[in-house]
Amino acid sequence: MAITDYFGENVFSLSVMKERLPKEIFMSVETTIKDGTALDSGVADILATAMKDWAIEKGATHYTHWFQPMTGVTAEKHDSFITPTDDGNIILEFSGKELIRGEPDASSFPSGGLRSTFEARGYTAWDPTSYAFVKNNSLCIPTAFYSYTGEALDKKTPLLRSMEAINKQTLRVLKHFNSDATHVISYVGPEQEYFIVDEKLYNQRKDLMLTGRTLFGAPPAKGQEMDDHYFGQIKERIADYMKDLDEELWKLGVLAKTKHNEAAPAQHELAPIFSTTNIACDHNQLTMEVMKKVAKKHGLVCLLHEKPYAGVNGSGKHNNWSIGTNTGENLFKPGKKPIENKQFLLFLAAVIKAVDDYATLLRVSVATAGNDHRLGANEAPPAIISIFLGKQLEDVVEAVKNGKTSVDDARSKLYAGVDALPLIKKDSTDRNRTSPLAFTGNRFEFRMPGSSQSIAGINSALNTAFAATLSKIADRLDNGEEVLDIIVDIFKKHDKVIFNGNGYSDDWVKEAEKRGLPNLKSTIDAIPALLYEENIDAYSSMNVLSKIEIESRYEILLEEYIKKINIEMLTMLEMARQEILPACIKYVNSLANGIIAKESIGISVPNEKASVSKMSELTEELIEKIDELDCLKDNIKSDCEILETAKYYQDIIIPKMGELRLVADKLETIVSKDFWPFPTYEDLLYRV
Ligand code: ADP
Ligand code: MG
Repeated sequence: MAITDYFGENVFSLSVMKERLPKEIFMSVETTIKDGTALDSGVADILATAMKDWAIEKGATHYTHWFQPMTGVTAEKHDSFITPTDDGNIILEFSGKELIRGEPDASSFPSGGLRSTFEARGYTAWDPTSYAFVKNNSLCIPTAFYSYTGEALDKKTPLLRSMEAINKQTLRVLKHFNSDATHVISYVGPEQEYFIVDEKLYNQRKDLMLTGRTLFGAPPAKGQEMDDHYFGQIKERIADYMKDLDEELWKLGVLAKTKHNEAAPAQHELAPIFSTTNIACDHNQLTMEVMKKVAKKHGLVCLLHEKPYAGVNGSGKHNNWSIGTNTGENLFKPGKKPIENKQFLLFLAAVIKAVDDYATLLRVSVATAGNDHRLGANEAPPAIISIFLGKQLEDVVEAVKNGKTSVDDARSKLYAGVDALPLIKKDSTDRNRTSPLAFTGNRFEFRMPGSSQSIAGINSALNTAFAATLSKIADRLDNGEEVLDIIVDIFKKHDKVIFNGNGYSDDWVKEAEKRGLPNLKSTIDAIPALLYEENIDAYSSMNVLSKIEIESRYEILLEEYIKKINIEMLTMLEMARQEILPACIKYVNSLANGIIAKESIGISVPNEKASVSKMSELTEELIEKIDELDCLKDNIKSDCEILETAKYYQDIIIPKMGELRLVADKLETIVSKDFWPFPTYEDLLYRV
C-alpha cells in the first residue's frame, strides 16, 4: 500500500472532519484549530457523535482522555461506548460532555503538594487543537489536566498557555511592522535519539529493566572510536524495525521523516517534520510509546534513557524551535540581506536577550538525573547556556553594534574540485554541534534536552523566555523608541551569551565564567533556579505558571531525582550482592580448588596463585563497597528539606555508586565470561 493511502488513517483529522461534519460545524472547528479561538457551544455533541462513529469503524470500543501528567509520560483511562437500554440491550454513545470533560481520580499523579489526596478532584479538558486518534481499540482524545482549583497538573496546560503568550506578545511587536498576521504560533521539530538492544539480553539485566541504563559494565574492546556507526549502513533487523515504526507512526499522522544510525553503536535517530509545539509534543509522546511497542514485536527493546551505556554517547532530543505567523512567515528567517531586515534583527535580538536574561530558566528545563550524564561530558553541550549564530550573523551583529549598515556577504558557491558536481550554495551558518542553542538558518536548535524528556516543559520554557522578552520590547516600541535603537542596545548589552567556538572545551568554561554566565553544572544545582525571582516573574507574568504551580514543579523535580537515584542505588546493591559477588566467589573458589589440586601433585603455579589472590582482594573490596553504600543508604534523611535530601544523593550516594561500579567493572575484565552473571557491553551493543 502506498504511504498516501494509509497516512493518518487512525487520525480524526481536518479532512475526516470535513467529510463527516455539517459544513458550518466543520468551519467552526477549523477556526478553533487554526486560530486557537474558543469552540462554539453546541458543536461538541455533533462532533462527539461523528468522532464515535468514525472510531467504531476503526475498531474502537472505548474512548479515553489522553493526558500528560507531570510524570513526563502519558496517561489514559478507558471507558467503553456502551450505554444500557430499557430492554436489556446496549447502544453505543458518546456525548459532547464526555468529549469535553473527564474527571480521572487525580490522587496518584505527582502534584508537588498542589493537591492533597483528600481533595483529589482533577479534570481533563479536551484540547481541540490536537487531533483525536485511535490507538489499541480506543478513541484517544488529547486533553489538558488540571485541579479543582484550576492549577495545571500536567505538562500540556502550561505549553498551551505559553503558546498563547507567544501569540499575544509577538503580535504586539509585529504591529509595529505593518504585519497582516493575526495569529502567531511556536513550532518545533524534535529529533529523537534512542538505543536498541536485543530483548533476550535486556531481560538478563536488572539494571536495564528497572532503571533504563546499565549500572555496571566494563567498556568493550571497541567503542565508538572508529566513527563507523554514525550514518552507517543500517543492519537488516534494525531496518525492519524502522520500517515498521515509520508505518505505525504514519498511521497516527506523525510526520516521521528522517532515520539514521547515530554516533554510538546500536544508537539511532528519528526526526519528524516540524509542527506546532503542541502537536509536536503530543506526537513526540506517541513516538516514544510506539518506538517501544514496535521494538517488542521485533524481539528488541528501545532504550530512551539519556545514558544507557557509560563510555559511548548518550541520547538527546534536539529541539528545533521557531516562531511563525498564520500568514506563513517564519520570524527567524534572515532573508537575503539580514542587516537590512530590521524585523528579523529585532526578533534575533529578542532571542539573544531571552537567552541571556533567562539562561537559568532554560537550564532547569533540561535538568534531570539522566541528563546529568550527558551535559558537559564532551558529547553534549555544557551546562552553560550560550547561543551560536554562525559567522554571517555574528558579522551582522558586530556591524549593527558599530553603526554600520552593510557587511560583506560571506556566502558563496562551493566548488568541490570536480566540474561534474553541481555548485552548491553555502548555508548561512556552518553547523555547530557543541552549542546549547544553535541558529541553523531559520530556527534555533536547542541541543540540551535529554532523550526521555517530554518536550512540553522545554518548549514552555523557550516560549516563556521569548514572550517575556518580547513583552518588554513591545513596551519600548509602544513608548515610541526606534526599532534600530532597541536592536543596537540589546546587541551591546547581551552579546556575552553569543559564543561561536567549541562549547566542549575547558577554555570555554573559563571564558564563560569571565563573562559572568551562570554554570549550573548538575540537576541539583539547576532546580533551585526555578524559584529565582526573574524566572517566577517570567512564568507568572506570561500566565504560563503561577508561583504556586512553579513551587509544585520544584518539589516534583526534586522528588523525581531522589526516586530515580534511589532506585538505581537499590538495583546496584541487589545486583552486586545477589549476582556479581556470588559469581566472583564461585570463580575464585574454583580456581583455588584447582591450585590446591595441582599443588598436591607437586605442580607449582605461582602466577595462577597471584592472579587468584588479586581477584580475591578485589572481591573483598567489592564487599567493602557494598557495605559502605548500604551504610550510606541507612543514613538517608527524609525529615529535612527535600533539597538537602537530594543533595545527599548527589554528593554522597552517587560517588559511592561510582566506587562500587569501578571495582565490579574491574572484576568483570578478569572473571571468566562463563561465570559472569549477565550480558556484557559487547553483547548489548553488538549483538542486535
Ligand atoms: P539535523 O541535520 O540537524 O540532524 P534533522 O533533519 O535530523 O536535522 O532534523 C531537523 C529538524 O528541524 C526536523 O524535525 C525539521 O522538520 C525541523 N525544522 C526544519 N525547519 C524548521 C522550522 N522552521 N521550525 C522548526 N523546526 C524546523
Ligand atoms: Mg538529525
